[in-house]
Amino acid sequence: MAKRKLDEGNEQGEASGSTVRRSTRVTKKAKVVILENQIVEKMGEEVEIEKTQTKKKGKASTQAIDLSSFPERVESPWKVGAHVSAAGGVENAVLNASKIGANAFALFVKSQRKWTSPPLTELNISSFKSRMKELSYNPKYVLPHGSYLINLGNPDNEKREKSYQCFLDDLKRCDALGLELYNFHPGSTLGIVEPSVSMTHIADCINRSHRDTPGSKVVVVLENMAGSGNIIGSDFAQLGEIIRQVEEKSRVGVCLDTCHMFAAGYDIRSKEGWNSTVKSFDTHVGLKYLRGMHLNDSKTECGSKKDRHDNIGVGHISIQAFAHILADPRMQDIPLILETPSHEETSKNWNVWAKEIEVLNVLSSSTLEILEPSEPTDVVGARFDSLMQDIREVIKAAGGGKAKTGTGASVQRGLKKDSKKEGQE
Ligand SMILES: [Zn+2]
Ligand SMILES: [Zn+2]
Repeated sequence: MAKRKLDEGNEQGEASGSTVRRSTRVTKKAKVVILENQIVEKMGEEVEIEKTQTKKKGKASTQAIDLSSFPERVESPWKVGAHVSAAGGVENAVLNASKIGANAFALFVKSQRKWTSPPLTELNISSFKSRMKELSYNPKYVLPHGSYLINLGNPDNEKREKSYQCFLDDLKRCDALGLELYNFHPGSTLGIVEPSVSMTHIADCINRSHRDTPGSKVVVVLENMAGSGNIIGSDFAQLGEIIRQVEEKSRVGVCLDTCHMFAAGYDIRSKEGWNSTVKSFDTHVGLKYLRGMHLNDSKTECGSKKDRHDNIGVGHISIQAFAHILADPRMQDIPLILETPSHEETSKNWNVWAKEIEVLNVLSSSTLEILEPSEPTDVVGARFDSLMQDIREVIKAAGGGKAKTGTGASVQRGLKKDSKKEGQE
């Protein structure tokens, strides 16, 4: 029954309602193909969650997964999730998302730090697809992240070609998995050329990729950046200009990262600031191009140009800003992905993400109430305080009590490098 409800929600997109209902806990055991020997490569630093299955060389077995051990999935028009591990095979990302109660997720479709990776196997692909179905995930809410090595703005022809091949390979993997979106960092001038030259290279590569993947539905999604060095895309106008040069407009979009926009100088802390930022995005890019968001707090101040992700409510953006975002109907029906530190180097339970997702879902279901102007400010403040306290406690339990200091020792490695990897090649 619960599964049916989730399916319906996905199909209908739930675009209009602003109420959020708790779905009943999924208690049925679903048959999900478990891959045991298809460890194509280690895509991240983390281990996959399904290691307890029996090992048999060369074939996959079908085993029941007890979904009752997974947290409840909330039905909401705001599709909150996280960038989860695909270690052991892309199909494991689907389970990892479900394990933390995510309604959306991101993953790497190959090693994010290698130029070439073994191709996806038929088994990877079929298992990914069957798990998507069994666990009621709609491809519309899956936002794969591209390799960090890719720089389509590289002025060097040979190096740009290398990046393009890596980019094209990512797109083909997304297509094979039945996915519809592909998020990547636009690129860098490397300080060698004017931004406009790199922007044209990026648009040319996107146009070429569309020609090289005829019939594919995958939308190329440019991410806004924090603005350090020679990186393209911290200014919405640059993203808009790249899109203007793309021929097939239905296959290009933008993902807005809250940490990046804040670091780039868009002050989204107040509701007015958030609204004027969205207005600026609409003016320079167009809201119809918004295909996803990355929800991250920031370890550094507004305009710092530093890309340092922090947990929701713990950084400089503050939890109130996420309340505005999660009350905004314009942010419904797109993947809203956490790329926050998970801290859990040993347990791998990803409790921090599960808690952040829970808190964001609470915000989306009750923001109207929380932000009701008639409420005394101290009552509203106390509610935010208690939600933040919840997050802090889980971070501490995960061994990340020092998150505020930004030492980074316990930050999930893949995402920590995400923060640092502004220098594309
Ligand atoms: Zn990114
Ligand atoms: Zn991001």
